[in-house]
Amino acid sequence: MQRPDAVLRHDPAVEAIALVLDSPHSGEWYPDDFDHEPPRDIVRRAEDTHVARLWHAATAHGATLVEARFPRAYIDPNRSLADIDVDLLADAWPDPITPSRKTQQGIGLVWRLARGGTPMYARRLSSAEVRARIDRCWRPYHAMLDASIDQRHAAFGAVWHVNCHSMPAVGDALSDDPGRERADFVLGDRDGTTCEAAFTDLVAGAVRAMGYSVAINDPYKGVEIVRKHGRPHENRHSLQIEIKRTLYMDENTLVPNAGYAKLERDLATLLRALAAYVRSRTSTGRAT
Ligand SMILES: [Zn+2]
Repeated sequence: MQRPDAVLRHDPAVEAIALVLDSPHSGEWYPDDFDHEPPRDIVRRAEDTHVARLWHAATAHGATLVEARFPRAYIDPNRSLADIDVDLLADAWPDPITPSRKTQQGIGLVWRLARGGTPMYARRLSSAEVRARIDRCWRPYHAMLDASIDQRHAAFGAVWHVNCHSMPAVGDALSDDPGRERADFVLGDRDGTTCEAAFTDLVAGAVRAMGYSVAINDPYKGVEIVRKHGRPHENRHSLQIEIKRTLYMDENTLVPNAGYAKLERDLATLLRALAAYVRSRTSTGRAT
């Protein structure tokens, strides 16, 4: 079978606006060389399944949506290339490494543990294998997202970026909040550093108005992607949105539940508000 592209870009269906979304964790294409040890249904619980589909209406408002096809348990685009777990490697990593807390939790650039805490592999990986995953998946994902954001910024003088995720309803043993029930939506702007406060406030207000609970930077502040793209002083605004999975699917089977259609409608409402905000801020063709 032909190997699919690692990344998909969904272009605007109408005139483009200064809005870009990305879904780094909803990929469902499992490469042949991903010889994970736990059963596939356990490994798949790492996915933000359906997230790219839930946000696809963004293109009807002029946004671009970038979507990873590969699973984040294989290689995670929301980690830096220095976030290497030496306990996973059979040989020395040739480049500088700065393992983050995520790597200590077994969920760095390449995950050492599956959800629930069982080892992902029955072996160690060679650094050449990890390098190949970076070149085949991580780099194309970032290249596509970087280009999409830069193009909008060049055209409008400003860009708003939404980094789309979903989260387990309750923190597990590997998380920073084990056993705690999460809010329906968790917005992450790395404590106010990756986007203007008005953008976070707009999303929080719109979501609360639809009856959802919202938390900000708790327990998820945003990781590599919003850190990389969020530079408010350059009119580059980047916000992470985490949606509680039980709002739209069974967390074990990943099958959409009765709430899926309502959430999809509510995200369409949120997208209308986002598009209106972005248009109002770029109404002269340049950021105001
Ligand atoms: Zn995610």
